[in-house]
Amino acid sequence: MSVVTLSHVKRAYDRTWAVNDISLTAPEAQVLALLGPSGSGKSTILRLIAGLEAVDVGEIRIGDELVSTPDRTLATEARRVGMVFQDFALFPHLNAGANVAFGLDKLGRAERDATALKWLDRVGLRHRVSAYPHELSGGEQQRVALARALAPAPRAVLLDEPFSGLDPVLRAELRDATLATLMEARTTTVFVTHDAEDALQVADRLAILKAGKLLQEGTPRQAYDRPASVDAAAALGPVNGFSGHAAHGAVATPFGAIAAPHLADGAKADVAVRAEALLLTPGAGARVLSVRPHGAHDVVRIEAQGFVWRALAPARSAFGETVSVEIQPAGAFAFSS
Ligand code: ADP
Repeated sequence: MSVVTLSHVKRAYDRTWAVNDISLTAPEAQVLALLGPSGSGKSTILRLIAGLEAVDVGEIRIGDELVSTPDRTLATEARRVGMVFQDFALFPHLNAGANVAFGLDKLGRAERDATALKWLDRVGLRHRVSAYPHELSGGEQQRVALARALAPAPRAVLLDEPFSGLDPVLRAELRDATLATLMEARTTTVFVTHDAEDALQVADRLAILKAGKLLQEGTPRQAYDRPASVDAAAALGPVNGFSGHAAHGAVATPFGAIAAPHLADGAKADVAVRAEALLLTPGAGARVLSVRPHGAHDVVRIEAQGFVWRALAPARSAFGETVSVEIQPAGAFAFSS
């Protein structure tokens, strides 16, 4: 395993930067998640690391080895990275064992079979060694693909939306199983997802992307608790927005004030308040528009001065027609605009 480093990497399609000056490190033996909406450049970054595309600007290193510059793209096979891409399906004519053994051609037959079986065992599919892909469920196919990617001891493994297309229960199970396998393998991992929950649950470090730009990089805790911008805050969960002005170290919103000691008096400010940071209690101040169940919480839409915000309240809280709103500082952020 090795560190993967991108330095000022750019890649254009049709004269637009799909990846625009990205500098990023995937630390050794950790999981780096690239999180962003569709079109933010995540898959392109993965393809650049895999050597399936060339960089226009900047460079990529795997360990100490320079693998991509604008003048030279080391071939994918020579990079020794494992890939689990949505469109890199299993070989349909090979059983699970043979799929995992596929990249182990440097080993003798017996050692190859033993290694394949070891990796199938690690993903919990030893008993399915003779099954063909069409006999496996979607989740099992993904686990075989992960075993196939990890078996040759790659320097890093790249996962592109590995859980998409699976139902929510299976998705959470597969996510936990994948994380356990990656932790056991201690492989440097770059993991692409548009799902904040997946990223928060799996990543050691998060890179939040939008339109080819890096909005923020850090641990899930840092990114959640200290977002760098409204967009970075919104990438990790539902937020309420408001634009106003700073006065006396705070920004007033229709639902209460938010501390902004870093903003000068009169400065324009954009505010982001996480839905769970709104504490609703019986009283006046905001009108309750609707209460809808959402797992352990209810989503409560509240209105004040013509603005509508969403709050997450404990399920089955009894609210009247109005509530008093307290904004909890841990989930409320003000940025200069
Ligand atoms: P994501 O993985 O975040 O959905 P992509 O990396 O796939 O984003 O795409 C980033 C941008 O680059 C998008 O605007 C997409 O349309 C464009 N793009 C990606 N691949 C190609 C390609 N092969 N040709 C032209 N445009 C592309």
